[in-house]
Amino acid sequence: MSERFYAGIDMGGTNTAIGIVDEEGNVVARCSISTCRYGNLKDYADALYEATEKLSEEIGGMEKISAVGIGAPNANRDGEIACCQNLPWEMPAPLAAVVRQRFGIPVAVDNDANASAAGEMIYGAARGMKNFITITLGTGVGSGIVCDGNIIRGHRGMGGELGHITVRRDNARSCTCGKDGCLEAYCSASAVARTAREWLAENPERESLLRSLPSESITSLDVYEAAMKGDSLSKEIFDFTGEILGEALADFMNISDPEAFVLFGGLARSGELLMEPVRDSFRRHLMPLWRRYETKILVSTLPGADAAILGAAALATRKNG
Ligand SMILES: [Zn+2]
Repeated sequence: MSERFYAGIDMGGTNTAIGIVDEEGNVVARCSISTCRYGNLKDYADALYEATEKLSEEIGGMEKISAVGIGAPNANRDGEIACCQNLPWEMPAPLAAVVRQRFGIPVAVDNDANASAAGEMIYGAARGMKNFITITLGTGVGSGIVCDGNIIRGHRGMGGELGHITVRRDNARSCTCGKDGCLEAYCSASAVARTAREWLAENPERESLLRSLPSESITSLDVYEAAMKGDSLSKEIFDFTGEILGEALADFMNISDPEAFVLFGGLARSGELLMEPVRDSFRRHLMPLWRRYETKILVSTLPGADAAILGAAALATRKNG
């Protein structure tokens, strides 16, 4: 049995998942608590401690835990949460400092996208790599750029957000960030559903399995399932999404010369339906200079349900490795 353990905490606006992770990246115990029911940060830190202490009975007590890693929404480089609409706490909330005080061991806090990058580097598909980019295809498009083994944060800690790079300028879709034409507006899971709704409305003659669903309720999973059943409109939606994503990845080569891209999140699990058009478009859009080198486009190997806990724990190992 591993002698050293880390607590990995995936803090969401509603719920917080807590896991104890061994040195090999196994989540040996897990639980969750509510995030939003605590009126202030101190009460939340107390609840985190109690839950972790209970979990630590599985491994012989709290003294076996070397450090805590927390992936949190909008966390800045000082370990503070700048803002979170779901939480009634006073903002900015000094999460790292308060949890460190309660636990009495090192605490590393970073935003969720950077936590996934750390997770891939320590436990996942990018193990052993020093230069790679993770792209999370979920409700939005998140990203983490790892360059020479360091996660790029930049001057204000907001660097490395590739989801809001402009990929379309003519008749561009609006993005949740307030800008138009962002990668996120075309290649997130929500964007796949949006493409489906737009195309169904624009092509009323076109038959599709998706027509049996109420338009507003269509999800990227519905589009995936229809495509797997041979629905041509749904397949074309994946071709369209993959084309834009591959084009963007080809551009990202010029940012940090990564050895690999690691795709993560629900949509990344669509297999060849997405990966084939991504790879094809990537090759076509590369600057000729890059074409002689092989750059891998991988799908995350972290187990879905535990990936966020492992990412958070990886932050702790980096702090205390
Ligand atoms: Zn945007």
